[in-house]
Amino acid sequence: MSNIEKLLRYQQEDEKLIKIEQEAAASEERKNYVQSKNFMAKAPEKLDQLDARAAEAERTAARLSQKYDELAEALKDFDSLDEMVSNEGAEVSFYKKSALALQEKIKALKGEIASLNAAVKAVDEEYRSFKKKVISVQKQYKESHDVYVAYRDGKKKEMAVIEEELKKLAKDIPAELLAKYQTKRSERIFPIICNINGERCAKCGMELSLAGKEKLAREGVVECENCHRFLYKK
Ligand SMILES: [Zn+2]
Repeated sequence: MSNIEKLLRYQQEDEKLIKIEQEAAASEERKNYVQSKNFMAKAPEKLDQLDARAAEAERTAARLSQKYDELAEALKDFDSLDEMVSNEGAEVSFYKKSALALQEKIKALKGEIASLNAAVKAVDEEYRSFKKKVISVQKQYKESHDVYVAYRDGKKKEMAVIEEELKKLAKDIPAELLAKYQTKRSERIFPIICNINGERCAKCGMELSLAGKEKLAREGVVECENCHRFLYKK
């Protein structure tokens, strides 16, 4: 058996391994596990953010409430206004204007406080519902982890059988050639070795250079200059 034939045989077996790897990577078992894992990893940060937002809104609401009280207190000074300035028309209108301005300010502040309180409530609700979700995902996470581990262990067993076969096949292949194959495999090139299509790479379509054609004629195998696959002539 030529080296090419041995390598083809090896690749054929190796393809089974790659299929299992791809299947496992795209499996629902893995997806569910990774999804809940990512959610759980980000949850503490998100809870902290909601917490900080609620605290900030509460602080602002407290500050505005204090301001409101101060203004309400100031407005009281105008209560005795009518007696204070009984006969002087111009001054009365000045004080009245001031009192009205203050009343307007208080009204606006009241509105601000109300909307801030609503915001505090909303953040609080968001926090609580997120926390509920965290608890439910935490449960999912544990379950999906166990399901995934069982699934992965099953796949590992399947893979071990193939790996054993690959070890046997590898014994007959020159180490240097196999090392090159493994390097390409790690670069996710597959298939690694393929039959040449005329004078072109069967996978990427690149035509062989003159030197490439000579090497192929001489050694029976050449690397595609574009995608670096092994090309051989049957
Ligand atoms: Zn190519």
